[in-house]
Amino acid sequence: MATGNPDWIRLDKALSIEADKGCTNLQGNQYQFNEFLCLNFGQSPPTGTPTSDRRKWQNFAAQYADYSNLSVAQRKTLISQTRQFLYELRKTLETPRELPPPKLPKTTAITDKKASLRPVTLDQSLNNLAEVGYKRGELLKRLGLHTVKDILFYYPRDHIDYARQVAISNLVAGETVTIVGTVKRCNCFTSPKNKKLSIFELILRDHTGHIKLNRFFAGTRFTSRGWQERQKRIYPLGSIVAASGLVKQNRYGITLDNPEIEVLDSVGSSIESLKIGRVLPVYPLTEGVGADLIRKAIIASLEAIKQIRDPLPRVLREQYGLMGLKDAIGNIHFPETPELLAHARRRLVFDEFFYLQLGFLQRRQEQKQVHNSAVFTPQGKLIKQFDDILPFKLTNAQQRVINEILEDLNSVTPMNRLVQGDVGAGKTIVAVFAILAALQSGYQAALMAPTEVLAEQHYRKFIPWFNQLYLPVELLTGSTKKAKREEIHRQLQTGELPLLVGTHALIQDPVNFQKLGLVVIDEQHRFGVQQRAKLLAKGKSPHVLTMTATPIPRTLALTLHGDLDVSQIDELPPGRQAIQTTVLTGKERTQAYDLIRREVAQGRQVYIIFPMIEESEKLDVKAAVEEHKKLSEKVFPDFKIGLLHGRMSSTAKDEVLTAFRDNEYQIIVSTTVIEVGVDVPNATIMLIENAERFGLSQLHQLRGRVGRGSHKSYCLLMSSSKTPDVRQRLTVLEQSQDGFFISEMDLRFRGPGTVLGTRQSGLPDFALASLVEDQEVLELARLAAEKIIVADQTLGSLPSLKKELETRYKKLMGGEILT
Ligand code: ADP
Ligand code: MG
Repeated sequence: MATGNPDWIRLDKALSIEADKGCTNLQGNQYQFNEFLCLNFGQSPPTGTPTSDRRKWQNFAAQYADYSNLSVAQRKTLISQTRQFLYELRKTLETPRELPPPKLPKTTAITDKKASLRPVTLDQSLNNLAEVGYKRGELLKRLGLHTVKDILFYYPRDHIDYARQVAISNLVAGETVTIVGTVKRCNCFTSPKNKKLSIFELILRDHTGHIKLNRFFAGTRFTSRGWQERQKRIYPLGSIVAASGLVKQNRYGITLDNPEIEVLDSVGSSIESLKIGRVLPVYPLTEGVGADLIRKAIIASLEAIKQIRDPLPRVLREQYGLMGLKDAIGNIHFPETPELLAHARRRLVFDEFFYLQLGFLQRRQEQKQVHNSAVFTPQGKLIKQFDDILPFKLTNAQQRVINEILEDLNSVTPMNRLVQGDVGAGKTIVAVFAILAALQSGYQAALMAPTEVLAEQHYRKFIPWFNQLYLPVELLTGSTKKAKREEIHRQLQTGELPLLVGTHALIQDPVNFQKLGLVVIDEQHRFGVQQRAKLLAKGKSPHVLTMTATPIPRTLALTLHGDLDVSQIDELPPGRQAIQTTVLTGKERTQAYDLIRREVAQGRQVYIIFPMIEESEKLDVKAAVEEHKKLSEKVFPDFKIGLLHGRMSSTAKDEVLTAFRDNEYQIIVSTTVIEVGVDVPNATIMLIENAERFGLSQLHQLRGRVGRGSHKSYCLLMSSSKTPDVRQRLTVLEQSQDGFFISEMDLRFRGPGTVLGTRQSGLPDFALASLVEDQEVLELARLAAEKIIVADQTLGSLPSLKKELETRYKKLMGGEILT
């Protein structure tokens, strides 16, 4: 008990005995009852006694001085009032008051102390920092962190918010908090169940309640008596402690999970720990490199922040409300508040987008200064003839995009245009117009597709059209026979062959064109940068048309193709029926099979798709083979069922597809090799097994294989997954046929990777920026980049920005520059 406090227990005992014995002013060992009371109340009231109680306290001294003159009844009343008063006062004094928050150490202040001794520079090796040293510096290199600058630009992947101080009774499980309280009890002992485990217990109390904190120490050195006693001595009773951690509900109530704890010198005094009471950075780690090492290295590096130069012009920063780079770097690591963290993050996300866009736009400007492409006039025989033989009227969207393309082609500047359009929007025709423009001006064209199936599909479509125009067209793939191959090579070289369709074979073969003027790339995101460049190198600044059947959200489009002009075919040809889409569980399988029987009975055809289940193609093939067997023998013994998978030779695949096209097979069982290209208008059911394993865009692609003719079509998504998230995701397909909307949802549900398919080709590796969350900042960055490039394309007036762009853009593009 603190000094200056009365002996509550003796006082109360005296009062109660006097009352029990009839208020006779009893004689004790040393004093008479009223003398004892007088002496006690004659002292000054205990520290912390409220002013109004101080007066009462002094009054009691006077009343007990006069005690012998009071009647027994008056004495009784006085005693009972005194007891009541002391009880209340004791309660007031012993209940802890709200404790002010501890003062946080300033991260910069810590390093400033050392700054004068040994200045840290941005280029300094981390090994040379005393706080890191050679051995740990070598570990940091595993994360690519060599210099002070490297680590300052190594952003945390997350933060834990310990900045909120919360009263004990207000703690809510799942939140991260800091509490401040007085030590009521402290214990440290060996676990009765595990002799190698030491359990440390601390009971803290504040003005609202108390809480038990536990820490566990595994290892024999912690179970020694000495160590345990030393632990206890760190937290003496009555001392004030700050603790940060995650609030957890266990069966004994609420607690902090493995908290950081520190004793404060006094109420409101400052703490040393860098973890308590602040927004704490969490870094991507690697083996041997712990969070503490990174934090230490960063703190040691912080003073070098002042040497950072912000390459962003001040006007631009002010206009867009962006934090300065120094502040942003400081606050991304050790933010003083969550608001400052948000500001810092916004600035650094802006940078990630900005330099990419700046690079894209600069490239695009540069390309526009190339003036040696062939000029293709839209006026000419071929386009006119093709217009006449077209069996349908072009949609407005198709016409608009064709016009945009023909305008591009009618210029010495190479076209670099991407056509986006939903499945079935009619992209092929658009490409044909571009090809004919090249051909009628005496140039050759090449169309490259990512798979044999798709290349062949295009080729097949082209043949009847090009036959009518008396134009030869050839197909070159990995399975083209040697003699045919050589013949094609020869015809390209002489210029006899104006159009070549094919796969990667187009770039792998020693193919030489006589006059390649136009390159069309289908599903362009499936090709690598090098592959595209190789094809382009076969002509002299050829015009480039790229097409994608996977519509992608604007954030992705800007990030992937910020250097392209983009056209959208945002309208489907008339008369397309919506494909009735239903999500079914395993139990509802009979419904699906009944529908299949009904449709086949009417002459229609069916796809049944199995997803990639194992990472190994071999096992997937096995699954498809087994399902095919089961379906042919047990479920649909009276139908002919074809089988298609990735391990078949392309001739075998081709045979199956041709047979399906000719309706020799009513059903085709396939792995995802069917995904692109197959066009069988008579097929009306697309059944997809384990639909939850696909991205929405991929499912939408698959669904696009039906509904190509005049018959009503169905898409059945089989999924036994009960996860609400999965059901919700698949429902998007039941409700929408709009590829752009679907890909947007895909991006939100599962991130950029799934929208683009399994391979994330070309997506830059952002440290902070999210294509889902940061759309607003991306638009801003694009705008800022446009302004700068328009004003000063070479960035001659902004040398530090130019320098930064060179390193950043290269890094983002993985050292490669997109073509
Ligand atoms: P995608 O954009 O998916 O590549 P395609 O170019 O394969 O689409 O076209 C899908 C189908 O629609 C083809 O059979 C094509 O002949 C047909 N088509 C394209 N444009 C039109 C149109 N304007 N009117 C009617 N049918 C069209
Ligand atoms: Mg297509």
